[in-house]
Amino acid sequence: MIQLRVCRDQDRFSREVDFFILQQGEGASGAVVVVELQRLAKLMQTFDPIASRDFIRLVAERLTSSTRTVERVVVRRREQSLCARLGVAEFAVFAPGLSQADAARFAQHLTAALNQPFEWRGHKLTLGAFCGVAMAPRDGRDADTVVRHARMALGAAQNTPARMKLYTQSLDREAVARITLEREMRGALERNEFRAYFQPKINLATGKIEACEALARWIRPDRTIISPGRFIPVAEESGLISPLSDAILREACWKAASWARAGLPTKVAVNVSALQFKTERFAENVLRVVQHAGLAPNNLELEITESMVMEDPDRALRVIQPLREAGVRLAIDDFGCGHSSLAALSKLPFDVIKIDQQFVRQLERGDGQAAAIIEMILALARTLDMEVVAEGVERKQEVEFMAARGCEWVQGFLYGAAVPAAEFAEMLRRQAGEDVTAEDAA
Ligand code: C2E
Ligand code: MG
Ligand code: MG
Repeated sequence: MIQLRVCRDQDRFSREVDFFILQQGEGASGAVVVVELQRLAKLMQTFDPIASRDFIRLVAERLTSSTRTVERVVVRRREQSLCARLGVAEFAVFAPGLSQADAARFAQHLTAALNQPFEWRGHKLTLGAFCGVAMAPRDGRDADTVVRHARMALGAAQNTPARMKLYTQSLDREAVARITLEREMRGALERNEFRAYFQPKINLATGKIEACEALARWIRPDRTIISPGRFIPVAEESGLISPLSDAILREACWKAASWARAGLPTKVAVNVSALQFKTERFAENVLRVVQHAGLAPNNLELEITESMVMEDPDRALRVIQPLREAGVRLAIDDFGCGHSSLAALSKLPFDVIKIDQQFVRQLERGDGQAAAIIEMILALARTLDMEVVAEGVERKQEVEFMAARGCEWVQGFLYGAAVPAAEFAEMLRRQAGEDVTAEDAA
């Protein structure tokens, strides 16, 4: 019978892996799988010490029993695996005698097993497991290196639907590129190189630009412009997202206040990052910026993604309440991409739903299902007394589709991409002077 061994400390785990690497020649191969259970640490904070210990025991039992099942059923091997707890929510399994292909299958099944809900005192809890895998000795001549590389793969796994990733040398190169980017971003923040660009939003009732979305751009000294797709993930990981988002919020509020003073009042929407939304004083900070800028609060709209709200709807409600009371508008961004609970949604006082642009793209391809989803979102918004913005509108037919179904706002390249503040102000002035219709503006 296969016996699974569990050790409590990282040193013993490392010694075993080191021993394996020394004992076996080049031909041998074993896998180190590092597992992270994303929601575990937060959950433990809500438990008393005894409950914490019992729950960790339950998790460890699931890890060992799943490892045993996968060994027996999937990879059919006889060597003994070793499990260890490396951190609060981090575990590792060393499985000697596996080829890389078997290691991938092993980790895939382990990830799936650990993502099954845990039964705990009448509740079903899902912990959100991710796995990173590195091979010994191929990915390191000592345990520390192999574990470091498995952790690197774990970081990359968080961006994959499979929730599992094998280490490759290109991950090493990506990690170096990320560190370099992070260092450059710190300097860029000090030099004020992150600026808000503004994308027009058209009110379909009037056909005019009556609002805009502030989108971050990194303007390098050589005038090259970097889009958020590249720097937001690094900013989120490094914590730089907070000063960056604050800078964009400040710039957006000051610019919108100056347009209002010039007789061109325009609502401005600002994206909120997950990290920002989690800070204690989020609402307080936003309201201070609005007040300093002299902006009417109802000219500011905060775009919060569906996943940020649904992670903890009760907390979301507490956070947004003071903003609501002050008159700030609230929008759910990228709606349709996450998993919204309709019950939670109906309790949250949002003003606006933004239909994610993927549905508009699908509509373009004649996808009947996308049309049905858009119609459903519009009906839902009507019931909940919310306005709808369709994002990523690139063709006239899409505007007609939206307008015919009562969508209030559109935004997309058909009307223009995000432009610097001065250029956007010029658009507003032209519109006011010439009473340009949205069609002409396109
Ligand atoms: P988002 O908030 O959903 O913004 C819409 C994105 O769609 C923008 O990309 C915009 O340029 C792009 N877009 C607009 N119209 C069209 C169109 O007609 N066709 C296509 N294909 N794309 C269109 P961008 O500026 O690259 O921003 C990407 C994401 O980065 C944003 O998605 C937002 O989640 C995030 N982001 C941007 N600025 C900030 C910021 O200041 N703070 C935070 N936290 N996130 C930001
Ligand atoms: Mg947005
Ligand atoms: Mg969006």
